[in-house]
Amino acid sequence: MKPPVTVAGSGSNADDADLPAVMKSKPILVLGAGWAGLAAGVELAARGYSVQVLESARQPGGRARCVRFGELNIDNGQHLLIGAYRETLRLMESIGLRESDIFARTPLRLAIRGHGQDLDLASLPLPSPMHIGGGLMRARGLSLRQRGAAVKMAYRLWRRKFALAEDCTVAMLLEHEGQNTDLIRRLWEPLCLATLNTPISRASARAFLAVLRDAFTGNRGNADLLIPRTGLGRIFPVPAVDFIEQRDGHVQLGRRANRLLIEDNRIIGIETGDKTVLADQVVLAVPPVAAARLLQPHSALAGTAERLFQLSYESITTVYLHYPEEVRLANAMLGLIGTHAQWVFDRSLCGQPGLMAAVISTDGPHTLMENRQLIAAVSEEISRLLPGGPSPLNSAVIREKRATFACEAGVDALRPEARTPVTGLWLAGDYTATGYPATLEGAVRSGVQCARHIMDNARP
Ligand SMILES: Cc1cc2nc3c(=O)[nH]c(=O)nc-3n(C[C@H](O)[C@H](O)[C@H](O)COP(=O)(O)OP(=O)(O)OC[C@H]3O[C@@H](n4cnc5c(N)ncnc54)[C@H](O)[C@@H]3O)c2cc1C
Repeated sequence: MKPPVTVAGSGSNADDADLPAVMKSKPILVLGAGWAGLAAGVELAARGYSVQVLESARQPGGRARCVRFGELNIDNGQHLLIGAYRETLRLMESIGLRESDIFARTPLRLAIRGHGQDLDLASLPLPSPMHIGGGLMRARGLSLRQRGAAVKMAYRLWRRKFALAEDCTVAMLLEHEGQNTDLIRRLWEPLCLATLNTPISRASARAFLAVLRDAFTGNRGNADLLIPRTGLGRIFPVPAVDFIEQRDGHVQLGRRANRLLIEDNRIIGIETGDKTVLADQVVLAVPPVAAARLLQPHSALAGTAERLFQLSYESITTVYLHYPEEVRLANAMLGLIGTHAQWVFDRSLCGQPGLMAAVISTDGPHTLMENRQLIAAVSEEISRLLPGGPSPLNSAVIREKRATFACEAGVDALRPEARTPVTGLWLAGDYTATGYPATLEGAVRSGVQCARHIMDNARP
């Protein structure tokens, strides 16, 4: 028996034969309510388009979402944003969110501990880019030679607008730029892991430079750190769903797209488990493996699918340790070297006093450890940073095996554009050709771009 047919957004059975091309009255179908899909949905809804979002999970947010931890709502992984996430911040403002309600914004300040000497680097209240150059020159814990080498590299990169004729690994770039092993280990490696979630030996120098360019040039506030004050769901996914629904849109959770329906090289709809949903504009905003599976059966899209299947992935493990409320870290965010934990966040800023989130990028010795062992090891590392060396009252480990695509040198060749060879089908997601690593900003930019393509096509 054929599944019943609906037009995207309508509850009733319908036939799409008479529907015109793209117009505001005809709903646009978005598959996936992660940050990319919701960004597309919000951008379209704000301009009067009717949007239907189908999401396979029971909640929106994708890889940046809330999960339950006893009495607390925690995130599936601690997220950090920077002032240069301009599309994300613009979109949040456009749906009525006030930045100061959802983020604690501080000028760039990096405190990295371990490997013999503490490193403290902060931007200075000087015009851009001197705020960073001056900050590097004044960094504590680096020799004069190391500071000079870092500033010279920053200056050379700035002069060539952070562009590279050919991609190479971050390790190759740093070596070429005369950064010594100690400086790499204590500054560049932690920065690269934090921004690209890929080790410097494989990470794309081009993507690394794209983040440095956006953070360190232009407005001085671009380098600011933005730590969410509340659970990730509240800083965008949930308000975005409300925004779309208040504008004649519809977000359905727990509904997976199983098949794309394509005829004469045009998208005509999709199939979910029990329904056919007709639509002539579809934004496919699912993770790369899910996208590849949906694209593969269609000859025009099989090449894209094949490239997506070649992407590899990096994990992020977050160890949550809950201490008594009065326990605080010296800094809201602390980098660690030579330990399992690479960054530790004090979640008192998120209204969760006593809760610490220890973040471990990519696979390593911790991958093979049982949660119990890992908690014991990370507790021991964190207790050394806390006055009195307290033990946690409660703990949890969240392992995201495919947290991000591996942002490796040359990965751009595998990343597809938003536009596909099939009319009306668009790709959104952090993995698309944004030039950015897998980040919230990359996801949001890709969603906004799809929305703009659709609106451009709708113009007479
Ligand atoms: C632990 C962790 C820490 C991170 N830290 C940071 C950070 O500090 N800063 C930063 O900028 N970024 C960070 N990231 C990366 C960031 O979260 C992602 O880049 C971003 O969330 C990706 O959004 P997306 O919309 O592209 O994809 P996703 O979030 O993967 O969204 C895709 C959605 O599609 C749904 N879906 C899948 N298949 C189907 C289907 N067939 N039909 C319908 N729906 C489907 C999924 O359920 C999901 O909700 C982190 C990621 C993780 C996991």
